[in-house]
Amino acid sequence: MIVTTHSPAQTRLLGARLGAACTGGEVVLLSGELGAGKTCLSKGIAEGLGLDVAEITSPTFTLLQIHHGRLPLYHIDLYRIDRPDEIAHLDLFDEVDGPGVTLIEWPDLGGRHTPAHALKIQITTGPEDDDRQWRFSLLGNGPAHLIDALG
Ligand code: ADP
Ligand code: MG
Repeated sequence: MIVTTHSPAQTRLLGARLGAACTGGEVVLLSGELGAGKTCLSKGIAEGLGLDVAEITSPTFTLLQIHHGRLPLYHIDLYRIDRPDEIAHLDLFDEVDGPGVTLIEWPDLGGRHTPAHALKIQITTGPEDDDRQWRFSLLGNGPAHLIDALG
């Protein structure tokens, strides 16, 4: 399934619909180049989880930021890692089976450590400057209800 947005505001709304549909235990993988809109969508998801959106930033120098709303949000950004095994000894993904929502930017950099059951969102840009295509796919036993929530 592919959804197109034409502004940051529309992306925020898309994220909010996803966040509102979360019941806990979801893993969402966000792939796309720098400036694609991963953090913008994350802000929307946070909004849908009842979080203070101002708290959500690109976690450039922190691998994991935890936020507490209607459900906990584990916001992970793997941009800074050089090799997947750098995170092998960390407890980054310990909460994926817990009651919270795990959101992972640059999931491919985690290699085999990245959770296998997830909603994968691949972002592409253009043709207009503010156009973004969001391609949704399920990996393993990923959260199908999030795709259903988009109608
Ligand atoms: P990333 O986290 O993928 O690096 P950000 O969300 O931080 O990207 O930044 C996305 C940039 O693209 C912002 O400057 C935002 O204003 C801009 N933008 C333009 N159109 C859109 C859109 N449709 N959706 C999301 N962001 C958009
Ligand atoms: Mg970002």
